[in-house]
Amino acid sequence: MSESTAPADKPRILAVDDQRLNLNIMHGLLKDDYQVMVATTGEQAIKAAISAQPDLILLDINMPGMDGYEVCQRLKEDPMTTRIPIIFITALTESEDETRGLELGAADYITKPLHASVVKARVRTQIRLKRQNDLLESYAFRDGLTGLANRRAFDERSALEWNRLQRAGEPLSTIMIDVDHFKLYNDSYGHGQGDECLRAVARALAQRVQRAGDMVARYGGEEFVVLLPDADHGAAMAVGENLRSAVEALRLEHRASKVTDHVTISVGVTTGRPSAESNLAALLQGADEMLYACKAAGRNTVQGRELSR
Ligand SMILES: [Mg+2]
Repeated sequence: MSESTAPADKPRILAVDDQRLNLNIMHGLLKDDYQVMVATTGEQAIKAAISAQPDLILLDINMPGMDGYEVCQRLKEDPMTTRIPIIFITALTESEDETRGLELGAADYITKPLHASVVKARVRTQIRLKRQNDLLESYAFRDGLTGLANRRAFDERSALEWNRLQRAGEPLSTIMIDVDHFKLYNDSYGHGQGDECLRAVARALAQRVQRAGDMVARYGGEEFVVLLPDADHGAAMAVGENLRSAVEALRLEHRASKVTDHVTISVGVTTGRPSAESNLAALLQGADEMLYACKAAGRNTVQGRELSR
């Protein structure tokens, strides 16, 4: 794999072909407008796609070893790479082959021999679409009330991290957070004030979840969730206690609370080791069970559990 000297803010394209000559042609056509990386085998292509996260992949179908169809299938199955558009480059012109590629999730086709105007136009179109999708997702993944990530963003990120940490052999911790007696808060202060309360809690949580890779999201209603990749159980429990005390320190009045006279949270923490035998749902379920344990213990507390596998 090699890189052109194009500035890093240009869209990134990964060109994959077993023939150096074809790579040279594609590089020559695209290097002025894009940052072009190249790979000569399917295995190289998958590694490069995961690590470099290109905006588009130009993928030869006919390659010795892993062919383009298999590369495409693997990229589409992996949440780390599933959203990268793929244009197949092929000498095959049979329509059944085109159908097969599109069924595998390819965005478009270019047939050899490569024509400069066709390659440039198809690439430009896919890059524009990718940029639009990235923009839409930045809104679609945000909670409108608090500005935090929303549940969909959390679900996507946690699936990505689960796979990554399984490969890396590192732990993943999650924290479920519930505002204590929030229904009583809404009943006594009204929903407008309730929204203000959730915004204040969200800000307090976000200020204390700042490590790169960590995420705090609104999970729904008065529930928040925190994702802590690479955090062992001790570290996650410390974060949980930090969050609990941060919300308590806000001293937001809550006269209807049965815990105390201000807003508090319950915090459920679980840590697991992503593996083929474990799953993300069990980790979240565990954090939810710890939330119930908090309620049994009188709320405004942190309860945690390390999953055995
Ligand atoms: Mg080939």
